[in-house]
Amino acid sequence: MTARKTAIVTGSTSGIGLASARRLGAAGYNLVLNSFTDASEDRALAESLAAEFGVEALYVAADMSKGEDARRLVRDAADAFGAVHVLVNNAGVQHVSPIESFPVNQWDRIIAINLTSAFHTTAVALPIMREAGFGRIVNIASAHGLRASVNKSAYVAAKHGIVGLSKTTALETAGQGITCNAVCPGFVLTPLVETQIEDLMAQKGLDRETVVAEHVLRKQPSKEFATVDQIAGTVAFLCSDDAAQITGTTVSVDGGWTAQ
Ligand code: NAD
Repeated sequence: MTARKTAIVTGSTSGIGLASARRLGAAGYNLVLNSFTDASEDRALAESLAAEFGVEALYVAADMSKGEDARRLVRDAADAFGAVHVLVNNAGVQHVSPIESFPVNQWDRIIAINLTSAFHTTAVALPIMREAGFGRIVNIASAHGLRASVNKSAYVAAKHGIVGLSKTTALETAGQGITCNAVCPGFVLTPLVETQIEDLMAQKGLDRETVVAEHVLRKQPSKEFATVDQIAGTVAFLCSDDAAQITGTTVSVDGGWTAQ
């Protein structure tokens, strides 16, 4: 048991999740890292963040497509550190296809990982946060939680869903020292987007620069990717005392996408 606050970040071995964990580690939180893999590199990552930031860090292998794993992640974190103060529901996957040929297993996987896992982690975290009298839940949604795009039905449905879950969570915790918000990034250059760029290059026979300009950043008026550090900074702000009255809302980091 320790006086430090504890932060869980789901899907935190790469991209936005890893950047958020690093930012929260720098702010002095003990860290619970997660992915579905159970490799020595995962535990080594936790050890390296612990050493870098002088905090404690634990890696918990748990598959966010499985409700029982999502619930166990939060219980393991509370068992290890005595409480959970911050929960960043970040794990997410993508599949792109028209609705009529959208593989059912991909639909189920995206809804489970991008939406339902946050219901499970939140359900276990809330009583623990109420007992601590403090909680910050940050759900990583997307500009696709506010706008749609063709061929992304499951992702858009899941991200709109998590925006709704964030609002309901905020209402059920208002006045209890707990907040819940959704961060809505536009395009951020991570492995999730890199795969989409490579698929489009192959499909359309175009070079990378053309795909990025005409197909990826077309919707982002700034014509620049947001960075993982900018998303992580937004997550850290929502966990701060300055954000104590920000709850049940969305924060867009999307280069102007949703202003359109
Ligand atoms: P990423 O692929 O770099 O990271 C995804 C993380 O989720 C990885 O750590 C991966 O191991 C983990 N993960 C995947 N399946 C999992 C599972 N079943 N159980 C546990 N962990 C699992 O992607 P990213 O771009 O950093 O995405 C993070 C979040 O940000 C996602 O929710 C994504 O939808 C959202 N987002 C990303 C962008 C973008 O442009 N990159 C834009 C808006 C929203």
